[in-house]
Amino acid sequence: MTKPPLTLYLAAPRGFCAGVDRAIKIVEMAIEKWGAPIYVRHEIVHNKFVVDSLRDKGAVFVEELDECPVDRPVIFSAHGVPKAVPAAAEQREMIYVDATCPLVSKVHIEAERHHKNGLQMVMIGHAGHPETIGTMGQLPDGEVLLVETVEDVARIQPRDPERLAFITQTTLSVDDTREVVTALQARFPAIAGPHKEDICYATTNRQEAVKAIAPKVEALLVIGAPNSSNSRRLVEVARSEGCRYAQLVGRADEIDWRALEGVASVGVTAGASAPELLVDEVVDAFRDRYDVTMQTVETARESVEFKVPRLLREDA
Ligand code: SF4
Repeated sequence: MTKPPLTLYLAAPRGFCAGVDRAIKIVEMAIEKWGAPIYVRHEIVHNKFVVDSLRDKGAVFVEELDECPVDRPVIFSAHGVPKAVPAAAEQREMIYVDATCPLVSKVHIEAERHHKNGLQMVMIGHAGHPETIGTMGQLPDGEVLLVETVEDVARIQPRDPERLAFITQTTLSVDDTREVVTALQARFPAIAGPHKEDICYATTNRQEAVKAIAPKVEALLVIGAPNSSNSRRLVEVARSEGCRYAQLVGRADEIDWRALEGVASVGVTAGASAPELLVDEVVDAFRDRYDVTMQTVETARESVEFKVPRLLREDA
């Protein structure tokens, strides 16, 4: 039977970012150094495939520090943790390794600097996301006001509208965030902030690649987990660029083939916590059903790498 023709547009960059790569390496190196089990507070990165494969190697995932025995090392996830968490680990005299992405740590430092200068913070981020919880937890309660939308900006009641600064989650939509920043600056003209936002290079680049692909395709699949903020933003970006069918899929077996019936062009990308193996799996699933022509749409090249903490380095 002849297969129908289909062009698959592959986004570049896609998939793993430097922060995710480093966090996974940290868990693997910790298992090598201290043996299993190694405890990890929260999913190290938001991807079931990654978490399952680290679990197979000896990682134990827990939600809270008090679920870890004091005599085993614990790792904090790439999203960052409130200050109280490493403080509690120290108090319990535990060995811990912080896998917080350096670009998230940079936001923590920014928040602290503004706080020291007497400014109250406004954080643009998603309520309940571990990164937001971690960043807000760098400062005492009440020092960070959370806003998600332009409407939230109208609602907040800062202590002193003249003494404010803003920070953002690293994995937001670049376009939506710009609108929220504009609303903040309109309501609080004295507000201080980063030159752009704190959205990281990986989030920005993956969104740009989706923007370049969206007008070319009838459907776009984002490989990523439902709790992965940056992956969900990629779906939203594709939709806002006019792609009628943009869907998040964990891996190939979640593709709704009936929804793709009659489609001749599909875009594929992967969130920053999705391994390339899952992209290969999706491409193979398309090849099984279609006569596929591959096109790569490259909008940026990435060469960012982060070192693992000293505690795990051989030269330490
Ligand atoms: S998405 Fe950005 S901030 Fe988050 S881990 Fe990756 S590089 Fe770091």
